[in-house]
Amino acid sequence: MLNADKLGLISFIDGHASWFEKIADQIWEYAELSLKEHASAALYCEKLRELGFTVTEKLGGIDTAFCGSYGSGKPVIGILGEYDALSGLSQKAGVCTHDPLVPGGSGQGCGHNLLGAGSLAAAAAVKAYLEKSGKPGTVIFFGCPGEEGGAGKAFLAREGLWKKLDAAISWHPGDANQVTTGSNTSSIQVLYKFSGVPAHAAGDPFNGRSALDAVELMNVGVQFLREHMTPDCRIHYAITDAGGVSPNVVQAKAAVLYMVRANKVAEAVKLLARVDDIAKGASLMTGTSYERVFIDGTAELVPNYTIEKALYANMRAIELPVYTQEDLALAEALKATYQSSGVDAIKGAREDAAIRKRCMELTDGGNKPINDFLAPMYSSETSSPGSTDVGDVSWVTPTVTANLACFSYGAGAHSWQWVAQGQSDVAMKGMLQAGRILARTAEKLLLDPGLLAQARAELDRRLDGGFYTCLIPAEVKPHFYD
Ligand SMILES: [Zn+2]
Ligand SMILES: [Zn+2]
Repeated sequence: MLNADKLGLISFIDGHASWFEKIADQIWEYAELSLKEHASAALYCEKLRELGFTVTEKLGGIDTAFCGSYGSGKPVIGILGEYDALSGLSQKAGVCTHDPLVPGGSGQGCGHNLLGAGSLAAAAAVKAYLEKSGKPGTVIFFGCPGEEGGAGKAFLAREGLWKKLDAAISWHPGDANQVTTGSNTSSIQVLYKFSGVPAHAAGDPFNGRSALDAVELMNVGVQFLREHMTPDCRIHYAITDAGGVSPNVVQAKAAVLYMVRANKVAEAVKLLARVDDIAKGASLMTGTSYERVFIDGTAELVPNYTIEKALYANMRAIELPVYTQEDLALAEALKATYQSSGVDAIKGAREDAAIRKRCMELTDGGNKPINDFLAPMYSSETSSPGSTDVGDVSWVTPTVTANLACFSYGAGAHSWQWVAQGQSDVAMKGMLQAGRILARTAEKLLLDPGLLAQARAELDRRLDGGFYTCLIPAEVKPHFYD
């Protein structure tokens, strides 16, 4: 049963392994921030053309969004790739101490260099299969920019891009081999820009109107709101403009960026309306005016057990990577630099005692340097904190995400340790494994219309007569607030 590769998908990926590894390496080097991934997008477009895909650039009007499609007719399977990096996470590769490559520079702290390359490997293998077999069906690799900031996939959803898909599959690098399940939070970002009247703070404060006061009062108002919102809600803020550094000036300009979250998108919208009222109140109290700038918004994930099961079946059918002494030694050395989150990070370990027990055994009590096993199957509707723009895709078409071990066990995402391992052999093994699993899952979906229909029926049932409405107003352009 293992690696039954009748259609040649796995042998295609294995035969081109170093080709995909080079792409992952190069994107790690570029480490471009959200919506500024110009070199990364150009590289992917070039590689897609080389592979024989039909490439569309500047998808949905976003400079660094693109897609490569191959085949014709139904079903249409989308494979999602990301490539953006994180600010301030520059780090040398392959070392076990925090040592920035470029001080203050950016780094691939979420493993998106692997995410894009692994998804491309899957799409390329499926294309090779469609070509060889002459079977109907279309595979589309989507280059999705601005996941860390910018909500790229939500903007693409606003343009109706996911509607043509029968299913979307993706993966994320991590420290365990498992199916991503459950929901998360809907999230909306709005910038409030207050304007007042400048004045000498000692000589003429009576005629001044402080925008900074408005920001402070708005923040106080929101602090008092927190007691009166449901426990799933979160409100975060950052003062992006305090008006200046001179205390002897009444600040005429100040701005605060808010992020409002709730488990359900409708609740996030209602909570945001209350935050809007507080902004209005702060402006009334201070005699200032304000501009409300919508930045972006994402919907919560809609899980789909039907394709989760199909994905897991493929994860089980493909042999896991084998790690060398060097792989284990690097992971072991890195493990000494952080506090591991233990088995809690494995899906179901918190909620299900039997899964927790099994994970404790599989991880040697949480002591393994690399998780070299497939976690037990677990599907759930539970919402976890955090947001992703994959949520917007999952409202429109049945969507699933795999999680593959690419990093030492227990190192959290967005850490220098993930950047340090982004070009490692372990990371590349995880990336190629993701390619194999996604390719086989796409194959299953292409060849089994019944499964696709079942997945669609599940999505319809979960939406319960509701339908996707993009949170982002038509006039808002993609924007990463940095
Ligand atoms: Zn991330
Ligand atoms: Zn990520």
